Amino acid sequence: MDFETRAIHEGQEPDPATGAVTVPIYQTSTYVQDAVGEHKGYDYSRVANPTRTALQTCLASLESAEHGVAFSSGLGAVTTIMHLLNPGDRAVLIADVYGGVYRMTSQVYEPKGYVFDYLPAADFSNLGEHLDERTRLVWIETPSNPMLNVIDIRAAADAAHAAGAILVVDNTFATPFLQRPLELGADIVVHSTTKYLGGHSDVIGGFAATSDPTIAERLYFLQKSLGAVPGPFDCWLVVRVLAVPPRRHGENAHVIAARLSRNPRVEKVFYPGLPTHPGHEIAARQMRDFGGMISFLAESEEEAVGLVARTKLFKLAESLGGVESLIEVPARMTHASTADAPFAAPRNLVRLSVGIESVEDLITDLESALVRSATTAG
Ligand SMILES: *Cc1c(COP(=O)(O)O)cnc(C)c1O
Repeated sequence: MDFETRAIHEGQEPDPATGAVTVPIYQTSTYVQDAVGEHKGYDYSRVANPTRTALQTCLASLESAEHGVAFSSGLGAVTTIMHLLNPGDRAVLIADVYGGVYRMTSQVYEPKGYVFDYLPAADFSNLGEHLDERTRLVWIETPSNPMLNVIDIRAAADAAHAAGAILVVDNTFATPFLQRPLELGADIVVHSTTKYLGGHSDVIGGFAATSDPTIAERLYFLQKSLGAVPGPFDCWLVVRVLAVPPRRHGENAHVIAARLSRNPRVEKVFYPGLPTHPGHEIAARQMRDFGGMISFLAESEEEAVGLVARTKLFKLAESLGGVESLIEVPARMTHASTADAPFAAPRNLVRLSVGIESVEDLITDLESALVRSATTAG
C-alpha cells in the first residue's frame, strides 16, 4: 500500500468495542484483569496503551520498520537509544548534531565515561577511517540542523557495519514521507514528533523504529524501564496528523530558496534542493523531495537579529515543522548550547521553517523584512 493509505489505515482499524472509526484516546492508567495475569494485552499504561499502540504501528509502517517505539519527547527517544551503549563505548556523531543531543552527550553521558567524537559532514565520505573497535554507534542527521548538510545514508550504514557499529539516523528534518533510512541500511531511525510528524506545533513527542528484533526487544524493555512514555492524548494528536503528508512545506521551500538566492541582501542560502548545494545529488537520490527547512546567511549578525523580528507571517520562534512558518537565529536560540561545541552555528545564520501558507505571501513577508533591514542599516 502507498504511504498515504498506510498513514490513514495502519494501526487504525475501527475500535473493536464500539466501532469508532477514529482511534479512541484510551485515557486510562490501568486495565481490569479477569483473573491474575489474565488480561487483553494491556495491564499498565507505561508498558502499553492502545492509543500508543496505534501510533507505534502506524509510524513504524511509514518508516518501513517492523517495530516502533514512542516516547515523551525527541530527547526521550534519544536518551533511551543511548542506553544501548555502556560506559567506555564510543559513538561518532555528525558535528552539527541537534543542540539538545550535543548537550546530552557532552554534559550527561560523557561524565559517566561514554566516549563521543564529532565528525564534520564533509568527513563522512571516508567515515570508515574514523571508526575503531570501540565504536558501537554512528549518529547522523540528514539534512542536518541548522546547516542542512546531507549525508549519504547507504554509505554511512556500510561503513558503520564494516566496523561492527550500528547506524542511527535522526529523520526529523526529512520525515518518512521524504526519506526512509531503514530502506537504505540504517539500523534505527529516530524522530522528534514535535516537528513535522506532529505538524501543528501543539505536542512534544518522540519516536524510534527498527527492523532488528534484538534492538527492538531492548528498546521496548528500555521504554518501560526508563519510562519516557507519551500520554494517550499526545499519541492521538500525532496519529491524526500523520494522515496528511508534509508535502506543501517542501513545495513552498523550493520557491523561497530560489528567490532568496537571488536576493542581494542574502549572502548564502543552504537548501538541499538548490543544484548548487554540495549535497544536492545525494539528497536527490535518497529523498523524495528536499523538505521545508532553509537556512541562509544575512549580511551581519545585526541584520539577522533585526530581520527575524520584522517578519510578520514568519513567527519568531524555536522549533519547526508546523503548518505555520517560523524564523529564528540558531546561534542565539536553538543552538545557543553549541556555542563552544565542535560545531557552532554562524552568528549571522537565519533558519526558516517554511509552512503551508501562500508562498507569495511568505515571499512578500521575507523580502520586505530584508529591504527594511537594508534601509535601517544604511
Ligand atoms: C527538536 C529536535 C530533537 C529533540 O526533540 P524534542 O521533541 O524537542 O525533545 C531532536 N532532533 C532534531 C533534529 C530536532 O529538531
